[in-house]
Amino acid sequence: MNIRTGIGYDVHQLKEGEEFWLGGIKIDHTKGAVGHSDADVLLHAITDALLGAAALGDIGKHFPDTSDAYKGIDSKILLKKVVELIKEKGYSIGNIDSTICLQQPKIAPYIDKMRQCIANVLSINVDQVSVKATTTEKLGFVGREEGISAYASCLIYK
Ligand SMILES: [Zn+2]
Repeated sequence: MNIRTGIGYDVHQLKEGEEFWLGGIKIDHTKGAVGHSDADVLLHAITDALLGAAALGDIGKHFPDTSDAYKGIDSKILLKKVVELIKEKGYSIGNIDSTICLQQPKIAPYIDKMRQCIANVLSINVDQVSVKATTTEKLGFVGREEGISAYASCLIYK
């Protein structure tokens, strides 16, 4: 069996009045993430982890932020396209683990919805998807609520 792992990391700025999409779910908050697409930092980290596992480059290579085609796009569409690329190479997804770094708001109430949403996009079971969250103890850009970051790792196999 051919087993491979991948890692992904992403950061977006937070700004008052923006929509806040995270893990495919709309979060109720005064601030939202800024970006060319819907700026879903968790889905972008997962997308990069999957691309990395298959050595297919990164999200910017496949979906350049200079292209109007991806302006405001739902990141679930981008993630779905990457799942197709992984499958074309003959791989299946073993699991996804992830950590969101965010000071506010508390996102524990959204975690299970995010896991279900990600599992649906990836066509895997919810118990193959882990989403964790941490604050940074008010330190750094996350702590000052200027931005949000996310880490993801994945395992793929064939
Ligand atoms: Zn991003």
